[in-house]
Amino acid sequence: MLNTSFLDTQIEFLKGVGPQRGDLLKKELNIFTFGQLLGFFPFRYVDKSKFYKINEINPELPYIQLRGKISGVQIIGQKRAMRMTADFFDETGRIELVWFNGIKWIKDTFKTGVEYVVFGKPTLFNGKYNIVHPEVDVFYEQTVSVETVFQPVYNSTEKLKTRSLDSRGIAKLTKVLLGNCKGNIPEILSDELIEKFKFLPREEAFFQIHFPVDMNSLSKAQFRFKFEELFFIQLRLLKYKLIRAEKSIGQVFSIVGETFNTFYKDCLPFELTNAQKKVIKEIRKDTGSGKQMNRLLQGDVGSGKTIVALMNMLIALDNGFQTCLMSPTEILANQHFVTLKKLLNNLNVTIELLTGSTKVAKRRLIHQQLMDGELKILVGTHALIEDTVQFKNLGLVVIDEQHRFGVAQRAKLWNKNTIPPHILVMTATPIPRTLAMTIYGDLDFSVINELPPGRKAIKTIHKYDSARTNVFHFMKKEIEQGRQIYVVYPLINESEKLDLKFLMDGYESIVREFPLPEYAISIVHGQMKSKDKDYEMQRFVKGETQIMVSTTVIEVGVDVPNASVMIIENADRFGLSQLHQLRGRVGRGAEQSYCILMTDFKLSSDAKTRIETMVSTSDGFEIAEVDLKMRGPGDILGTQQSGIVDLRIANLAKDEQIIQLARNTANDILKEDPELKMDKNRKLAIQMKKLEKHSELWGRIS
Ligand code: ADP
Ligand code: MG
Repeated sequence: MLNTSFLDTQIEFLKGVGPQRGDLLKKELNIFTFGQLLGFFPFRYVDKSKFYKINEINPELPYIQLRGKISGVQIIGQKRAMRMTADFFDETGRIELVWFNGIKWIKDTFKTGVEYVVFGKPTLFNGKYNIVHPEVDVFYEQTVSVETVFQPVYNSTEKLKTRSLDSRGIAKLTKVLLGNCKGNIPEILSDELIEKFKFLPREEAFFQIHFPVDMNSLSKAQFRFKFEELFFIQLRLLKYKLIRAEKSIGQVFSIVGETFNTFYKDCLPFELTNAQKKVIKEIRKDTGSGKQMNRLLQGDVGSGKTIVALMNMLIALDNGFQTCLMSPTEILANQHFVTLKKLLNNLNVTIELLTGSTKVAKRRLIHQQLMDGELKILVGTHALIEDTVQFKNLGLVVIDEQHRFGVAQRAKLWNKNTIPPHILVMTATPIPRTLAMTIYGDLDFSVINELPPGRKAIKTIHKYDSARTNVFHFMKKEIEQGRQIYVVYPLINESEKLDLKFLMDGYESIVREFPLPEYAISIVHGQMKSKDKDYEMQRFVKGETQIMVSTTVIEVGVDVPNASVMIIENADRFGLSQLHQLRGRVGRGAEQSYCILMTDFKLSSDAKTRIETMVSTSDGFEIAEVDLKMRGPGDILGTQQSGIVDLRIANLAKDEQIIQLARNTANDILKEDPELKMDKNRKLAIQMKKLEKHSELWGRIS
């Protein structure tokens, strides 16, 4: 008899847990039920049959296991610089174990004379080997159990360890639980899928993922759980998309009219790229369908998203609708306004700018003209969202750089018309395909994957700080030719004061090297008032200063075509996507542009990879892939959104094939059975219900 509630049983009822350990498991690891303990997968497996001897250690070895004793511990240094070392030895030699945190707990726990198993990666330091933050367990003869060669290693915490719930303690509990599982683990995939992909049955898969008998069984179990995890995400996203497509109504842009055609014939300053044409068509199709469009437009910096947005705005206009374009900053809104106004110069189209600094009288006039329907295009900042801004007939909203706008803010735009306007979100932050499929899987998605022709590739160069004189020399030559230059410093919160000092020191040395009246220099940083920032920025935009020294405030969207050199100081401290965004600030004009990455001589291997990637490619998507592999999805999307890609076992950077498989499979199933009503899909339907009950669907744009 299948006991469906078995997996939902509270964890304290498992033999060996009880109320106190139960509480800890809940607090520390979010494990509330039997099912959650089973789903707490090992993060690594150790081949417990193999112990290395200390004299076998060499620099090529990955993680290894040693067996020996500790002869003493020392605490060195004070406060932040404090570290603890322990002397570990076996019959062949000695090695130092090092900890930088958790020192008190470790000091109280380790005893001399006890035999330990140490696991970690040996590194060479000052000619001697040591292991930093090793895992240390008391050695038991029984540690090597007969039926498993691979020992699971679980994450644990210091608090859990005080209750003997270290990795081994958790393994013990899991083993007890698995012993009670027979016949209690319901299948959640359909027979059809299990047969098709030769999945291990769910129960068997749980055994193999915790205590694999061999590598092959382990990878089979991993494949099943990865698929399972990704498949249900896709099934939900695609089902949601289906429902929305059915239910939502949108404005219908049925014609391509005179304004658009005249613009296309007479005002378009260049030939559109194929990618731009393709995207315009995609949007046309959406906005003509009678459903509300919710589309994300990705295009690398400089790929020409603005014109695509404008042309779709003109279509809206030809169909009797108003449109607006919203930017994250005043400077950007300003630039967009100027650009669009210029492009629309010969057309009879009304356009206005609304920002926080718009004067009251002007603001009133704009409000009035929006209500009348006289004003067709409104460009602005957050000021657009305010309730006082009411449109007569808003049909399309374009949002530039989505990262700076919250979901709630975007939702407010919906309500500005009885039938919601179409939404086009543009971003210059390339998101790797796998990530996009997992997060924005329910959205429509357009990509401009080609730059306008004739662009000169930006030359990216890595220079050590010691070559600064050469760099100054190069800067002077560029300025002589009328170019402008950015010099950017990192600003990382924790050490803000120090960063500011770097910036100011750098600024001073540049001022000394480039004195007035021959040169003029702007400076912008986060501690300045925004009025002052804008003023300095505008001076640079207008060409009144030749050098802009700043922190990353200039990262988003600013367009100064005459700027041809981007110098990034301490480049090793920036993330890849940030470096890429910064580099995108130059290369906008006809001149050859340069990006110079300045670093210290010493670089970590991660930093080296980042710098090398930047020097070798300018393809934003390629860079995003590397970034994803190095940092993981949470960091790429920012902390705000990181929770949505908390995958238990699948890895967005490594499991692209399984993601694609899961998506295709979910798609096929929904095509045949959109509501999962067919008998063969009954198990899927049950699992979906369960998942829906447990969490809200995330990852929607509006
Ligand atoms: P982004 O996608 O970064 O917002 P923009 O829309 O600002 O890029 O375009 C960057 C520059 O390229 C602008 O100066 C724009 O006029 C120009 N541009 C856009 N499309 C083309 C094209 N098809 N051919 C030539 N230049 C183009
Ligand atoms: Mg732009």
